[in-house]
Amino acid sequence: MNAKLDSSVTTRPVTRQTFDEVLVPTYAPANMVPVRASGLDLWDQTGKHYLDFTSGIAVSALGHCNPIVVEALTRQANTLWHLGNGYTNEPVLRLALAMTEATFADRAFFCNSGAEANEAALKLARRHAHNKFGPHKSRIVSFLNSFHGRTLFTVSVGGQSKYTEGFEPLPPQIDHLPYNDIEAARANITDDVCAVIVEPVQGEGGVMPGNVEFLKELRALCDKTGAVLIFDEVQSGMGRTGSLFAYMGYGVTPDVLTSAKALGNGYPVAAMLTTEELGQTLSVGTHGTTYGGNPLAATVALTVFDTINQPAFLARVKEASLTLIGKLEQLVKDYPQVFTAVRGAGLLLGLVVAEPFKGRSKDIQRAAEAQGLMVLIAGPDVLRLAPALVVTDAQINEADRLLRLALDGMIKAA
Ligand code: PLP
Repeated sequence: MNAKLDSSVTTRPVTRQTFDEVLVPTYAPANMVPVRASGLDLWDQTGKHYLDFTSGIAVSALGHCNPIVVEALTRQANTLWHLGNGYTNEPVLRLALAMTEATFADRAFFCNSGAEANEAALKLARRHAHNKFGPHKSRIVSFLNSFHGRTLFTVSVGGQSKYTEGFEPLPPQIDHLPYNDIEAARANITDDVCAVIVEPVQGEGGVMPGNVEFLKELRALCDKTGAVLIFDEVQSGMGRTGSLFAYMGYGVTPDVLTSAKALGNGYPVAAMLTTEELGQTLSVGTHGTTYGGNPLAATVALTVFDTINQPAFLARVKEASLTLIGKLEQLVKDYPQVFTAVRGAGLLLGLVVAEPFKGRSKDIQRAAEAQGLMVLIAGPDVLRLAPALVVTDAQINEADRLLRLALDGMIKAA
């Protein structure tokens, strides 16, 4: 019998080793293979339990298999999955209404990933400048250490050259300025700039919050030059910082905002939000994607959005953030040889690695995992914590306990 037709293909045993044999090696995943999860609890193939303080890289904001989201997805799965762009659907219309009513935006475009939302934002900015000012206004300004996705355009706009090496020739007319540097922004955001793209809090680049004065200056410079100000809120948005979107906490409003990650709680969906005038730039036929805002994705996003966009939910994120920051500050005091500082916003927090452990955030991550705590890194010198926004105080205490056990082990072995 043809092995491909044998039904055991769906049930045969697989291991971490299988990854090394058949996946393109773009990732180096952990040795354990997660099989089941609920809330912040997760179990691997051997039945070992982990407390998940990664939420799938700031994605599963409502926790794994959240019953409200599961119910919505299941209901929609039994109703209508997909149509294609020749038809609209009720969930996407409701989602667009909810997201525009809650934000500065008048128009929404839906797609499937953060990179795609940024791609749409950048294409919109280029086309807007082209239409309104002419093709000379094409320069894009971005910031060092930023991360905007992995398509060729977005990875070129991102400010980490390690991700573009070997992929040249890159799209031209992209400049990277130091983050939080007002003088550099003033000197370089000139009339030939069509877009300034910035993460209000840099996530992948080391959990670095933007200064309010810096973001305000970017707003002023974009107003002066006619450049489009794009806030990449793929990581910082959807309640992660304690505001629905980080721009609200900063009091600086962009022209375009991108959202993904937590928007779908793990279901692939992303949004680009913008104003009435800018939205008209992407007229019929200028941009699109097969799955963008399909009924399944839109239903999940609408349910997640409605759950997070509640004052009590966001107030709890702020409260949990203060509790976690308090624990981490004490940890820095107790382990000065491992960490020097806590930084970040809301429940997107980084522990900066001290000199004796420089370059070893991955080792700390592995040690935590051995104790049953999943954490992230943000480069070699920052340990990143991004638990689900529904994290309880008891789970924060437990994470603190497990991280201390991991650090004690590392220090002993050093
Ligand atoms: N923008 C930011 C700020 C991100 O953190 C990420 C992913 O980490 C992306 C864009 C890319 O999103 P995706 O991986 O969904 O394409």
